[in-house]
Amino acid sequence: MSGLGERIARQIAASGPLTVAQFMALALYDPKEGYYRQAQAVGRSGDFVTAPEVSQVFGELIGFWCIEQWQRLGEPQPFKLIELGPGRGTLMADALRAIALRPALREAVEVHLVEVNETLRQQQRRALRNVPVVWHESLEEVPPGPFVLLANEFFDALPIRQFERAPDAWRERLVGLGDEGALGFALSGPMPVGLVPAAWHAAPAGSVREIASGGEALATQLGERVCAGPGAALVIDYGYVEPPLKGTLQAVRRHAKVDPLSEPGATDLSAQVDFAAISLAARRAGAAVVRPVTQRDFLYAMGARERFAALRKANPGRAAKIDADEQRLTSPEQMGTLFKVLAIRPPARPAAS
Ligand code: SAH
Repeated sequence: MSGLGERIARQIAASGPLTVAQFMALALYDPKEGYYRQAQAVGRSGDFVTAPEVSQVFGELIGFWCIEQWQRLGEPQPFKLIELGPGRGTLMADALRAIALRPALREAVEVHLVEVNETLRQQQRRALRNVPVVWHESLEEVPPGPFVLLANEFFDALPIRQFERAPDAWRERLVGLGDEGALGFALSGPMPVGLVPAAWHAAPAGSVREIASGGEALATQLGERVCAGPGAALVIDYGYVEPPLKGTLQAVRRHAKVDPLSEPGATDLSAQVDFAAISLAARRAGAAVVRPVTQRDFLYAMGARERFAALRKANPGRAAKIDADEQRLTSPEQMGTLFKVLAIRPPARPAAS
């Protein structure tokens, strides 16, 4: 087991099993050995490849979305471009290239990046070397004012709790110690019926439900911030509107799925995002939220077909590769429909009478 794995095992031996959320928080964010503190996670040589790393078109179209939001907000100056978890900085660099088509916006823009990983901060500095950038540990640190905020594959890293319908009752999934002292999943005692959400009552035995308390808290913050800024936020991630009846926690190491409890700190853990829950949280905070659309529909609505066609025309030698990239981002068999896009905006003002 990794050093962090042994530390987690000792903690469980001393004070009992952890919730899945507590385990994820340690495995991903332990200040010294957490996965996001140290690993070279994103990109082809890392553990997983994200949409901006597939094609420049992804970030460019999001840049066009930013221009639209800026216009809707009345073209405020200065204007913050905030990104949560910018990875290698590719999305922001591509979006800024599109934004440069509107010089008034390009000049008004201040870039604020929320990033906990020191290695990735350096990569972001290189990707954005011609742009003044301010880094933050968390969204709370970003000063107020008009903004657009982007979060691609950020919410899926936030810790979730898991609950399972055992034959007799709902029980929480926990991380404990097996016979050999290795980490293993276990179940809590039965939950009192009064603590079980009404929507879960009819679920058949074996069903698993997840609660993303961190994600919901962040969505509340986004809802408040878009109203106050004013601003607009775009959340892109893999996830669902209707909850599946099974758990979605997954672990990836070097592009392969592995056991989520193996090698904590060296393994990427994520869970599908519950878009219904984050929409509700943002709406309760006063924001306007419409049903999320699929990544495929969002990209095509933003002009992906024309942009990819223009790229193929300009680079005939790379046409097959560009075509494959388009398929990867939009095809239902790849990222096209599993990934969803959610826009969070201020409520429309009632027309003046
Ligand atoms: N958006 C990028 C990277 C996604 S990976 C892309 O699409 O390529 C997740 C990113 O979020 C990484 O940059 C990671 O270091 C960062 N991150 C994860 N959890 C975070 C947290 N709680 N606070 C700040 N940054 C975080």
